Amino acid sequence: MARYGTQFGPDITFHEVPRCDWADPGTFAGADVVVLGAPFDGGTSYRAGTRFGPQHIRQASYSRAGGARPSLALRVDALRDLAVFDAGDVEAFSGDAERMVHDLRHAVHALAAAGVVPVILGGDHTIAWPDIAGVAQHYGQGRVAVVHFDAHADTGDVEFGSLIGHGQPMRRLIESGAARGDRFVQLGLRGYGPPPDTLEWMARHGIRAYEMTEIGARGLDECLGEALAIAADGCDGVFLSVDIDACDPAFAPGTGTPEPGGFTSRELLDAVRRVGYELPVVGMDVVEVAPPYDHAEITSFLANRVVLEALSGIARRRADARDGSRWDPRQPLLDDRRRDG
Ligand code: MN
Ligand code: MN
Repeated sequence: MARYGTQFGPDITFHEVPRCDWADPGTFAGADVVVLGAPFDGGTSYRAGTRFGPQHIRQASYSRAGGARPSLALRVDALRDLAVFDAGDVEAFSGDAERMVHDLRHAVHALAAAGVVPVILGGDHTIAWPDIAGVAQHYGQGRVAVVHFDAHADTGDVEFGSLIGHGQPMRRLIESGAARGDRFVQLGLRGYGPPPDTLEWMARHGIRAYEMTEIGARGLDECLGEALAIAADGCDGVFLSVDIDACDPAFAPGTGTPEPGGFTSRELLDAVRRVGYELPVVGMDVVEVAPPYDHAEITSFLANRVVLEALSGIARRRADARDGSRWDPRQPLLDDRRRDG
């Protein structure tokens, strides 16, 4: 299997973290997190273009070389507090979905087995199958819960005559036993589908899906609290899968199957920060960024920050575990006494 820097140039790493080779653990010794690109759009059902996702997500950064990225909200600098590397892209020919699934799963498993958190930049959502299966191959079948943000359930069976595609990864994961339906939560679903037989399959497997009208009526905080409690129940780790189309097309226009009525950027960032801080995240992907449909890099910047926000949550979780403190989102940024005095 060919191993690349990045499949499509320029050959840069995520926020200029050091480059490594996923197949050679010596190149990422001591790593907490390894970023991996999956430039694949062979599973899209409508507008293609996610093969350029990893390139543009990496590019959407204005930090200077070696610059700090301290989170104002969390008072941590994820890229310094965690040891983060970038393994470049797994070769992903969009005309050969089966080979991509095989190769990506192999790479993700190698990273999980080395004890790091793989963060995969998609790519269309087909990659969630090898991403989560690769992590489960290390932690154990059914031992990793899944928190899935998406406009779509992605639980289809056969589409376009194929078992592989961006509308079906979650069914493949649950059918194969890699993930448990009753530890699988979905947030942001809306629009027109899936059909009743698919909803029936989802209910039978115990998936908890939060549709946008329920989130609107009950509030995101309450729904998320409930969802995270389901995911945290008796698992050995949690995989966070973020389809950028969970956000409203106003906030994420650069995607293949946009669905009006989604989250704001603010809501998605708040949510992934909570996942990173409150749950034992063992893997993550951000998918469905299609730069050809983007405007002003809105979607690429959002995806880049979704990764940073989750990593910041993970960094703060680990810092708090070390010193016994707890992050309080109501704490003001600046100390009042100093400001007044
Ligand atoms: Mn999806
Ligand atoms: Mn989607």
